[in-house]
Amino acid sequence: MPERIYNFSPGPATLPREVLAQASEDIINYNNTGMGLVELSHRSGEFMAIAEETEALLRELLNIPANYKVLFLQGGASTQFAMIPMNLLGAGKKATYLNTGTWAKKAIKEANIIAEADVAYSSEADSFNHVPDQADYSVAPESEYLYFVSNNTIYGTQFKQFPQSEKMLVCDMSSDILSREIDIKPFGLIFAGAQKNMGPAGATVVIIRDDLLDRTPDSVPTMFRYKTHADKGSMFNTPPCFAIYTIGLVLKWLKKIGGVAEIEKINREKAALLYKAIDKTDFFKGHARENSRSMMNITFNLPSPELESRLVTDALDAGFSGLKGHRSIGGLRASIYNAFPRQGVVDLIDFMEEFAKKNG
Ligand SMILES: *Cc1c(COP(=O)(O)O)cnc(C)c1O
Repeated sequence: MPERIYNFSPGPATLPREVLAQASEDIINYNNTGMGLVELSHRSGEFMAIAEETEALLRELLNIPANYKVLFLQGGASTQFAMIPMNLLGAGKKATYLNTGTWAKKAIKEANIIAEADVAYSSEADSFNHVPDQADYSVAPESEYLYFVSNNTIYGTQFKQFPQSEKMLVCDMSSDILSREIDIKPFGLIFAGAQKNMGPAGATVVIIRDDLLDRTPDSVPTMFRYKTHADKGSMFNTPPCFAIYTIGLVLKWLKKIGGVAEIEKINREKAALLYKAIDKTDFFKGHARENSRSMMNITFNLPSPELESRLVTDALDAGFSGLKGHRSIGGLRASIYNAFPRQGVVDLIDFMEEFAKKNG
């Protein structure tokens, strides 16, 4: 194998080479301290500076208003499925959920353990091939928030426009945070695991409006309260130091190439190229309905499962890894997050066209 191949993995996912190069130096001797990055105390001046810079960059790139806290937590995005209803609902309360895939379903399950999830829409009967329009559902008046997943990593669907509601929005942006410009203000809370579009696994970013920090019922244990972490700048206990540091490097890289507005243009173009290749022939068939198509995870099928597995094998030989679709829907999936190079998309299209000619 060459040093780098095109890695279409859905997450952990490809990172910019320059980020990996910097991390590999710093892991042995950080900034001439004579200590490796992962050996620094989280209370040291060096690490505190890293954490502060990472947060400041995230605030700048996403234009996060001052009345929102930014937290770096552990436990993955999946822990947020429970922490959100624990902190924002509590027994006897209700929130509205849109069921657009596996990750939404898992969040609904957790919400129902703590409180009540009112599922206002589900695309499950259509193999989650779309996200709803505004007119397709209504939010119960007694709901505390409207929960949705902005990009459905497994099915390759994405909300082009966010839901609009009088209720605050709560959103799982694990697989498309920082991929396009957003307005934070309608959101009470946004969360994202780092390992898709921000860095390595190990940190989950939570962006929470600060007035929500005092809502948590007294019965919630200390580590599961957002306020615990907000009050201590995510340093109540040892934070995921390496992940925070690497997120910082990824954010510097993103800022250097022009920030979120610029990467959005690049992402739109990359996805459009691939969808165009899929639409050009009957050999490939996109899974998502056109108006729900994701810019991040492009899901498609071939005429048979046999051809699909042959494509995965041949693709790997040709230097394209991670194209096998999730086991719950099969088919193929190309995950092309921010750090995935445009040239990789162009080369994959050439490979796909060749494959279709040979096997069509
Ligand atoms: C990957 C993913 C998750 C799960 O993330 P973990 O950090 O593994 O818990 C949740 N939601 C979405 C949208 C994802 O893509």
